[in-house]
Amino acid sequence: MKLLISPTLALLFQHVIGASGTETSRQFVPGNCTVLKTDTTFPTLAQWQSALPGVLPRKVNWLGTARPDYRYIPKSASDVEKAVQFVTKHNLRISIINTGHDYQGRNDASSGLSLDVSQLRGVTVTSNFIPTSEGAKSPVPGQPVALVSNLHAPGKQSAATFGVGVVGSELNRALKASKLFAVSGGAATVSVAGGWGQSGGHSFVSHLYGIGVDQFLEFKVVTADGKLKVANSKTNPDLFWALRGGGGGAWGVVTEATVKVYPSPPTVLYLVAINSSTATLNSYLNRTDGKDAAGLYDAIAYLGSQFPSMVDKGTGGIFLTTPYGFMGGSIFVGENATEAYAKSIWEPVLNKMKTFPGMDRWVASISVYPMYQDFFTTMWPGVGKTTGGSGTGESLTNATTGVSARYGNLFKLFVDKGMVRERDLREHLSFIPTERQSKRSPQAPSDWTPYTTTGDYSPPNAHGKFPMDNILLDRKHLEGLPSAPFQVKRAFASRHIIEIVSGPATHAKGNDTSVVPAWRKAYISCYSPYYPPYASADTLRGYAPDAGAYVNEAYYGAKNWKNAFWGTNYPKLSEIKSKWDVNNTFWVTPGVNADHMEVRDGRVCQALPGSAEKLNGIVPTSDNPNGIDLMANLRDFMGLGVPYRGQ
Ligand SMILES: Cc1cc2nc3c(=O)[nH]c(=O)nc-3n(C[C@H](O)[C@H](O)[C@H](O)COP(=O)(O)OP(=O)(O)OC[C@H]3O[C@@H](n4cnc5c(N)ncnc54)[C@H](O)[C@@H]3O)c2cc1C
Repeated sequence: MKLLISPTLALLFQHVIGASGTETSRQFVPGNCTVLKTDTTFPTLAQWQSALPGVLPRKVNWLGTARPDYRYIPKSASDVEKAVQFVTKHNLRISIINTGHDYQGRNDASSGLSLDVSQLRGVTVTSNFIPTSEGAKSPVPGQPVALVSNLHAPGKQSAATFGVGVVGSELNRALKASKLFAVSGGAATVSVAGGWGQSGGHSFVSHLYGIGVDQFLEFKVVTADGKLKVANSKTNPDLFWALRGGGGGAWGVVTEATVKVYPSPPTVLYLVAINSSTATLNSYLNRTDGKDAAGLYDAIAYLGSQFPSMVDKGTGGIFLTTPYGFMGGSIFVGENATEAYAKSIWEPVLNKMKTFPGMDRWVASISVYPMYQDFFTTMWPGVGKTTGGSGTGESLTNATTGVSARYGNLFKLFVDKGMVRERDLREHLSFIPTERQSKRSPQAPSDWTPYTTTGDYSPPNAHGKFPMDNILLDRKHLEGLPSAPFQVKRAFASRHIIEIVSGPATHAKGNDTSVVPAWRKAYISCYSPYYPPYASADTLRGYAPDAGAYVNEAYYGAKNWKNAFWGTNYPKLSEIKSKWDVNNTFWVTPGVNADHMEVRDGRVCQALPGSAEKLNGIVPTSDNPNGIDLMANLRDFMGLGVPYRGQ
């Protein structure tokens, strides 16, 4: 977004336009707002096509939703440069989409250009990454990863460089022949160097290898001046720091990244479930005083208090609290990947949980995998097999926020192993918004013309905003749970997903990235959809007011967002953003300096004086109006008898 006039002059200009009182005066767009298709200065189709060959105009509005006007699929960094130069020249809105997973809807906008980076691909491996001003040698898309010798030599950094469209499972499949792995989302479908890696990034093993932001050695990024930059510890270190935690979409268009790779360790998956025989769905839905589930709440609070020491001993995993109990998969890797070790950690805790009122039995089962990838591809068998495809189509068209999309086969394994009947599993998990919801998503895959440009390209689809909510809990919070008030234990034990997202390795990394410092103390992320009073992390926030949150899985209307998502790193991030993107070309909300802009008449404009203060600490509203009717989904699934919004 190019500022053609100073903010003061812009205000005056708007005043003059307003005074004229005619609709046509809106055709003259003040320099501090993005240009819309209805404006005379909006580029013609011929201009779009000449600047960005192959650009796709959007078909007519689908279901009346507001979407970008054009989509462009760059095949190279130089294509990205052209796209950024075009939008800044014409003062257009730009949104970057990679896999389309974003809960906050930051991958989409109501006008301008949708830049689909999913086709920037290719993977290479080196045994000795050294940061230089030219950056790592770029991978050639479609070429198999060459086997490299001397990996993990002392004093040398083994690394993988890959195009930003590469998702977690695809990267790991490419590394498998070298017996390497890279840390990627627990969900194999999220892009490694897109929103996941730029905003935090948790995985099954982040407690042992660090979170996403800890993996990066270098980014290549097209900044707001339309030029490709290298960002590593030696070159543009401030940008490099900002890209490691400052949030996806805010710093430029990342085209390529280099991450650390590790020898792929043996892995054990310990599936565990424990049930209460007294807890009821009514308690789970907050329709009763919850006393019938008190034993369950106490048991899960006890488990929470044990997590810090269990994680310090190598335990990882992801779990669900269901109406009737607790279930999930715990991961052990390396020398801890044995049945005996997993049992020695879990059995004493499960036996103690069984002693709380109403808790009747627990079941567990072990699976052993020779390498981490074997575990990962069991979870995600169908994703990222090809090097040419986006690798995300399958799961994304089925679901973006459902259980299968988040956890792959994890919960199906319970059924396969005879630990739980499929019908019961569905009932246990039904509170989580699932596939049905994405069918309600406002966009059709045929939104762009033509829909398919290559045989196997499955375009990432934005699914609109989803009301997610989370809190990062540390040792003090977790160990205090058994003596916390009943309502806190209830909140911890119901309607929440609990993931071990951090631990010894993440804590040891210090504060050398821009992610909210809460990650450096946290052990778990506890989250649910944001739909108070039925579901939210509000009660836990009251219990742990000093806790931070993971921006990618937070509510898009969160309060106190700068502090919750970036904490003490925010002021420095704000300065860096002002240096590299003074006009907020790359505007995302929530995002650094999001409140420097605001949406007026569908345009993204420089915020008027006083607008930021009026927000009162609430995330500025996006121009992406598309979203998911969570309540309709819950009603369908559970017959909750709760009112729709506004009823
Ligand atoms: C089913 C599901 C499972 C998930 N599992 C995990 C998980 O295991 N761990 C975890 O930490 N998080 C997880 N998340 C959250 C996930 O990290 C975020 O949704 C994240 O934003 C996805 O990034 P993306 O690039 O893949 O998606 P997109 O929606 O395409 O992009 C997300 C954001 O990053 C920006 N962005 C993407 N690519 C680029 C680029 N090349 N340059 C600049 N900006 C870019 C976009 O503009 C947007 O703002 C999950 C989400 C879903 C829906």
